[in-house]
Amino acid sequence: MGPAIFFIPHQDDETLQAAVDILNHLGAGREVIVVLYTTGKGSFVQGVLNGDGTSAYWGTAHNPYLEGYESLTDDDFSTARNREFCSALGQLGVTPESIHIQPVDLEGGPVNKDTVKALMMEYVNIYGLTASYKAMSYYDTSDSHKYSGQALLELYNEGIVTDARFYIARSDWALSRPGTTYTATSAQKDKIKKAARCYEAWNPVSGAFAIGYHSIYAQFNAYLANPQNKIHKPNE
Ligand SMILES: [Zn+2]
Repeated sequence: MGPAIFFIPHQDDETLQAAVDILNHLGAGREVIVVLYTTGKGSFVQGVLNGDGTSAYWGTAHNPYLEGYESLTDDDFSTARNREFCSALGQLGVTPESIHIQPVDLEGGPVNKDTVKALMMEYVNIYGLTASYKAMSYYDTSDSHKYSGQALLELYNEGIVTDARFYIARSDWALSRPGTTYTATSAQKDKIKKAARCYEAWNPVSGAFAIGYHSIYAQFNAYLANPQNKIHKPNE
């Protein structure tokens, strides 16, 4: 059996939307590959870290000079997010060589259904029907999330992949969505808690900016209280 390949839009979605399923696959002895498909640039958190306004999480404005770091460029910000992502995946047990940072917007290109589909095809060409393919739901209210679901649904409907699953983002859980809920075991919960810590780490002098928590700390808190993923099938 081939790998389970998770297409993840942003650094934090692998933990918030898919960690229970990642752990289930690893626990079953499956190879897991995680593909990050955007740079994660363009978040309001970059401005907050550069001293421009406040986040609900931090409460007061940052002062990069006093706190010991230079203002973050777009690339610095993306790199810092990638550190959180790789660190979190390590806590989940995904090996470094199975973490693929392949943003379709790396050179400023568009994130859309077709660019994400082209990226998926790189994996289809290697693993074909032996792999399981995972993406965000094509119902997702976030466009950059939804594109992976739309791309994967097309590949499924074209018969190019046969094993496809779609994650409901936690921010959409209050909406009417299909799917089955998977709850973490206590051992999995412990790993997920450690993965979340990678998004909470604040040590700017050494390049840790707690970007995940500045962005959506309330979602992390709600998730850690009872880690669950919600997953639906194609055309569900
Ligand atoms: Zn996201």
